[in-house]
Amino acid sequence: MLGEGPIPAKIMLIGEAPGREEDLTGRPFVGRSGKFLTKLLERAGIKREKVFITSVIKHRPPANRKPTLEEINACIPYLEKQIKIINPKKIIILGGVAFKSFFPELELKNLRGEFIEKDGRQFFITYHPAAGIRFKKMKKILEKDFKKLKGF
Ligand code: URA
Repeated sequence: MLGEGPIPAKIMLIGEAPGREEDLTGRPFVGRSGKFLTKLLERAGIKREKVFITSVIKHRPPANRKPTLEEINACIPYLEKQIKIINPKKIIILGGVAFKSFFPELELKNLRGEFIEKDGRQFFITYHPAAGIRFKKMKKILEKDFKKLKGF
């Protein structure tokens, strides 16, 4: 699952790895997390079809386990190439796996809800939408974070 959206795109979203629905359809964020993500984007006034959506890992880890460091490292060069081609000005980082891929030396909990400049692009850091489905508190935080993206 390589991603979906216009090329180039002003905004790119980067998640963790395809889940079952994504694996079956070949499209990113089409399962429960995806439906929630679409709502979050609407709330921010961002049209889903205008952004490029992908994940760090390009295959579905068996039984939805966390991707290994080896898998992450194998996929990062591909993601870097995608970023070069799609050339987004802004990147929304969804969750810890994507966060650590870009900012291995930093902690997500300290930077969630913040904008960071790196390599000439603006990054916005937030939780993965799946966390919002699992935990009410995180759902509230995601909703609050995406409000900050109005006009992003
Ligand atoms: N989680 C992700 O990170 N990506 C998807 O496409 C679906 C769920």
